[in-house]
Amino acid sequence: MRKICIEEHWGTPETEELRMRWLKSIVFRVTLDSEIRNRLLQKMWSFEARLPVMDEYGIAVQVISLSSPGVQGIADPREAVYAAKKLNDAQAELIHKYPDRFAGFAALPLQSPKEAADELERAVTQLGFRGAMIHGHTHGEYLDAEKFRVVWERAEALNAPLYLHVNEPMVDQMKIYQGRPELLGPTWCWGVETATHALRIIFGGMFDAYPKAALILDHMGESLPYVLGRLDEGFTLVGGKKSGKLKKMPSEYFRENVWITTSGKFFPETLQCAIRAIGADRILFATDYPFADTREAVEQIENSPVGEEDKERIFHLNAERLLGL
Ligand code: MN
Repeated sequence: MRKICIEEHWGTPETEELRMRWLKSIVFRVTLDSEIRNRLLQKMWSFEARLPVMDEYGIAVQVISLSSPGVQGIADPREAVYAAKKLNDAQAELIHKYPDRFAGFAALPLQSPKEAADELERAVTQLGFRGAMIHGHTHGEYLDAEKFRVVWERAEALNAPLYLHVNEPMVDQMKIYQGRPELLGPTWCWGVETATHALRIIFGGMFDAYPKAALILDHMGESLPYVLGRLDEGFTLVGGKKSGKLKKMPSEYFRENVWITTSGKFFPETLQCAIRAIGADRILFATDYPFADTREAVEQIENSPVGEEDKERIFHLNAERLLGL
């Protein structure tokens, strides 16, 4: 079965230095085992090392993106604009070396929303990218802020999905994790942060303003498919439905404007729940290279009690349609 995976990261020693600079501002954060970290960095920096892995597991195309936090961690907006152009050009070069095997999501300098929208347009129309990878908040600002309407507007016009990827929360959100470092990072903290960010976008009415805009969410939708009924219930209880603040119920936006990916580890029941909640047409395969094991990522779908037609949708048909591959 043809496979396309869409959360696949690359980086260089230079981008790692950007990340380290940004990490200094994060008080509590997940700390990887140093041996694992070094192994992951080597895998990420040697770009070609992924080709034999792709071949081994039948992955036809990786849609690549810069590793977290992309250019969003840069403090100076002008430096971020410059870095985004440079790194998107570098990514385009990697893709053009193997045009049948790779596509890309752009890095956006959201520190300057207008420039970010322009860079998205350049990346899609000139570099052939399929959308953008957004690594969480940008210095405390989330994608429902008024200033980012220009980005949503451009993304909708370009038919370019925005992929919202996990990142560390702002420092002032971290008190609940004090004394429980095992809850940081992928265990729980990143998921809560990313789910809440996605809900800000939905409840902020972005999909009323830009009804054709598409949001992709990692890690099986960060548990949101499981709580869609609860979101509608809460929205109704606080008078949201009556107020006319949104044209539709929260769950409707999730089913119409949001796609989710299979990155990370999940139980077969999770995939079944997601299919029942939002439909197999809205779920896309992702391995989270180099952070997750490719074999596991493939096998957890293959071994799920899901029909062959749905597996075709998840492994490649949805990506072909949504990203025009
Ligand atoms: Mn990832």
